[in-house]
Formats: sequence, C-alpha cells, structure tokens
Amino acid sequence: MEDCIFCKIINGEIPSEKVYEDDEVLAFKDIHPAAPIHILVIPKKHIENLLEVTDEDNYLIGKIYKTINVIAGNLGIEKDGFRVIVNCGKDAGQEVMHLHFHLLAGRKMGPKIVK
Ligand code: 5GP
Ligand code: ZN
Repeated sequence: MEDCIFCKIINGEIPSEKVYEDDEVLAFKDIHPAAPIHILVIPKKHIENLLEVTDEDNYLIGKIYKTINVIAGNLGIEKDGFRVIVNCGKDAGQEVMHLHFHLLAGRKMGPKIVK
C-alpha cells in the first residue's frame, strides 16, 4: 500500500535487515531495538492491525506464529524464551499501521508487558 513504510520494506524501497522471507511473510530487525533481539514479523498483505483481520486471514495469522517458532529456532532463542507483542491502536501506541508482531528476546523480560 502506498505510503506504508512496511509495504516499502516489503517491496525493497526501504532497506531492512531481513531474517526470514517467503511469499507471505517477512521478518526483519527493528530499527530501534527494545531488546538484544528485536524482530518484526509481518504479513506481506497490507492489513492495518488486528481489527482488520478477517476469516480470510486465519491461515496467514497461524502461519505468522509458526514462522516466529521457526525464527526462534534459527536464532537459538527457543530455550531461553522470548516475548511476542502486537500493538493495536492508539492506546497501545501503534505507530506503523501495518500489522506486525514484535519478537523480543535476549534478556529477561519484566513482569509487565513492555515494548
Ligand atoms: P509499533 O509501535 O507500531 O508497534 O511498532 C513499530 C515498530 O517499527 C517500532 O518498534 C519501530 O522502531 C519500528 N520501525 C519504524 N520504522 C522502521 C523502519 O523504517 N525500519 C525498521 N526496521 N523498523 C522500523
Ligand atoms: Zn503496508
């Protein structure tokens, strides 16, 4: 989608450090990491946020979680663990209106849900 920075990352207009890619899913390093490992996992389909997910996307959303599982294995973080966060809307502080899953790892996470 025009003017969406994550769509621009998908089509290569904006460079990114990719860690995984297939026809439907892309994962790349967050530009402002909140943990030693901070990956954004996104569908290539432009979906604004969780509120825009429909039954049509059931397979895709499941696949994103499965991809996170694969990436965790590739990065060797499956043993120590990790946190997955999805921000939706203004109170959650969603900045980029293209559905994305934050994968955070490499340090002990606090007891509260943090970015
Ligand atoms: P949100 O706050 O919307 O859940 O998260 C958006 C995330 O995208 C932020 O953690 C921010 O650092 C990251 N981000 C924003 N612009 C870019 C970019 O151009 N490249 C990369 N790699 N990450 C970005
Ligand atoms: Zn987009």
